Amino acid sequence: MDDADTATLVDRTDVVIVGSGFGALATAKKLAKAGTPFVLISETTEHLFQPLLYQVATGVLSPGEIAPSVRAILAGYPNADVRLGRVVDVLPEENTVVYEAGGQRLRLGYKYLVAATGARQAYFGRDEFADLTYALKTVEDAEKLRRQIVRCFEEAHVTTDAERRKNLLSFIVVGAGPTGVELAGQIKELAQRYFAENIGNIRADDVTVTLVEGADKVLPPFGGKLSEYSKESLEKSGVDVVLGTMVTDIDEHGATLTTPTTEETRRLTAETIIWSAGIQANDFADVLAERTGCETVRGGRLLVDPDFTVGRSDNIFAIGDMVTLDNLPAQSPFAMQGGRHVAKMITGKVAMGTPFQYKDKGSMAIINRFRAITRVGKIELTGFIAWVLWLAVHLVYLVGFRNRYIAVMSWCGSFLGHRRPHFYYAQDAVPVPAAEKEEPAAKDEPESDKEPVRTSA
Ligand SMILES: Cc1cc2nc3c(=O)[nH]c(=O)nc-3n(C[C@H](O)[C@H](O)[C@H](O)COP(=O)(O)OP(=O)(O)OC[C@H]3O[C@@H](n4cnc5c(N)ncnc54)[C@H](O)[C@@H]3O)c2cc1C
Repeated sequence: MDDADTATLVDRTDVVIVGSGFGALATAKKLAKAGTPFVLISETTEHLFQPLLYQVATGVLSPGEIAPSVRAILAGYPNADVRLGRVVDVLPEENTVVYEAGGQRLRLGYKYLVAATGARQAYFGRDEFADLTYALKTVEDAEKLRRQIVRCFEEAHVTTDAERRKNLLSFIVVGAGPTGVELAGQIKELAQRYFAENIGNIRADDVTVTLVEGADKVLPPFGGKLSEYSKESLEKSGVDVVLGTMVTDIDEHGATLTTPTTEETRRLTAETIIWSAGIQANDFADVLAERTGCETVRGGRLLVDPDFTVGRSDNIFAIGDMVTLDNLPAQSPFAMQGGRHVAKMITGKVAMGTPFQYKDKGSMAIINRFRAITRVGKIELTGFIAWVLWLAVHLVYLVGFRNRYIAVMSWCGSFLGHRRPHFYYAQDAVPVPAAEKEEPAAKDEPESDKEPVRTSA
């Protein structure tokens, strides 16, 4: 029996929105204001502001400050119904989605469906890399990376093994897109401005950060002077930038790099490898492709029509990172503008079938403290002005006055001072192997009386 057949039909609404990211929230806000009844189903309760995830990973901000509750954002609208659940199927001929929530499989009927389920990291056929590397897509990813960074510095501080110390203080970042660049810049900055200040026996030069990129430039979509500036800024701060090179293998102790033009292969050891080398549409894109006959491109992204309709359906829309349209960048403005466009068609503000027109308001990327790049039309800015602009724009888009206020306070503490208020970490109480214990256990001690050695509270 098909999975969908086992689900119970619960109810019907005008619009079902799937997801709670930039695309979904932009659609929801427009529908909410227009009084259109809708149900937003998302597998996370929060609206995650991904562009500031790196600040969670590096202890500047806490997750709550960049991930407000969607329910709270839409609380003032009686026509909005937010449900925590995972949408697993769609039956276009019945205008019904199937979702899992609270341990049940449920059905929900719609007049229009708007999918905005985003993307995850792509490993280009090497899925085993996912378990060997750190990613930066979700709050859990950022917290896991933050714990790893702190652990590496704390253990490097006390280890007596020089080789291990070197590995603990070596970081490889794969992919020189915005995420890779900001992480490489931040880790080096952490070494210089936080750990070297706070841990007596660690100098900034002991920390190696290698940024590896397959293309021949940093931040490839920018190109020209802006890419050049970004590379120089990273190198000036001590990041090793390796271009035109692929990571061809990864294990627990490091990575193998291959440069196709010279056929040179080399190995780098590192305890931490961060993967930010491309995106792959989340699973629901596959379901939509199969159910509507929509074509997909590299990374499983849906090749939608110019009005965001999907395959054979004229009442199913997909927006944001899960789709591709006119080669527009998979960034938040594309998701938000797409969401608003679809909402306008649904509420009759523009005719159904109206092709989407992207308004390019410019792009920006942050490199490190006081350095960023910005392009607005023909104007290109670098350095401090671009950095202030980056902070200002991201502050405006951060949801909620309280979060903005806290972000400004945290930025002052971290960028002007040396504070990382969210760097907390407690070592797991893992028993130290017998060979590493200083005192061998007494021979006649009964096995059951031995306690694992606790190395931290
Ligand atoms: C680290 C990082 C930094 C970035 N920096 C920038 C930047 O500086 N500027 C910029 O413009 N863009 C930036 N981006 C890209 C930007 O965040 C994305 O383009 C944007 O989030 C895409 O929005 P979306 O709505 O398509 O998907 P997302 O925001 O990813 O939202 C997807 C939503 O779908 C939900 N979901 C997934 N599957 C299901 C399912 N089956 N059922 C229910 N819910 C589901 C998820 O829980 C999530 O809520 C960055 C991204 C990352 C990861």
